[in-house]
Amino acid sequence: MTDQSIQDVRARQYAVSMWRLSESLEGAEALFDQALSNALAAIVAHDYPDDLYRSDGKVKSAAGLLRVLEEHGIPGTDGTIMLPHEGPDQLWVTTPLDDEPVPNFTEVRVGALREAIDKTQAVRHARGKPSGPTLTEEHLAALAALDSHEALYVFSDEERDRDELRASREGAEEYARARAYVELLDADEWARRRAIDYNEIYGGWSPDGDRVEVQPCPACGVTALVAHVFDMYVDDVGVGTCMACSYRRTQDAADLEGLSELLWRQSESDP
Ligand SMILES: [Zn+2]
Repeated sequence: MTDQSIQDVRARQYAVSMWRLSESLEGAEALFDQALSNALAAIVAHDYPDDLYRSDGKVKSAAGLLRVLEEHGIPGTDGTIMLPHEGPDQLWVTTPLDDEPVPNFTEVRVGALREAIDKTQAVRHARGKPSGPTLTEEHLAALAALDSHEALYVFSDEERDRDELRASREGAEEYARARAYVELLDADEWARRRAIDYNEIYGGWSPDGDRVEVQPCPACGVTALVAHVFDMYVDDVGVGTCMACSYRRTQDAADLEGLSELLWRQSESDP
């Protein structure tokens, strides 16, 4: 992929995640972590490309990227960092529409973001149970404040967002529908369905010579999602219907998953 398309993918992932996070922060540590990592990588790649990678060639962690911004940015109030949009002498500008000067910089709320990283990492590595809600509105606001940066400004690119947000919402609705069905069936019925070898029945090759994969279903956990088509990013996340619980993963939903997978691989292997 070109650098520009990687930047585009990072910005999209951030935009879609922001929307999901604004719906609920409950159990969203991994999503928050990913959105923050992508946002910081996009900003550092844009402003300080030489500082994006660790010495072993991998993209720095969120904590490492935050340190880069701390080193280069202008100290603001309450431990925040300002990243100027134009120059350090133009941090505030007055436009004909505003009476008061408006910020002409991206505010990086280092303290809140660092705290959020600690909390999401604690959950990821299961280092003891966090007490009470893990992430707060303050953390979300700090993540959202990064949006004014040029590398992420696509968040307000409504046309494109609408498509992705619609897909994201439909995916969530379909997931909820399947989960409700999963809850309806009793343990005996689930034991019976889990015992079926769906791969034996459905896997292999279609009469047209297309590969047919039977994948684990995100709604019921049974390896019963029969896919003939795959996502556009990593060609791995199946589009299809689960034969155990009826959950249907659409192309859009598979593409969103594939996008996350691509970014994850990117962060593991970027030269
Ligand atoms: Zn299922």
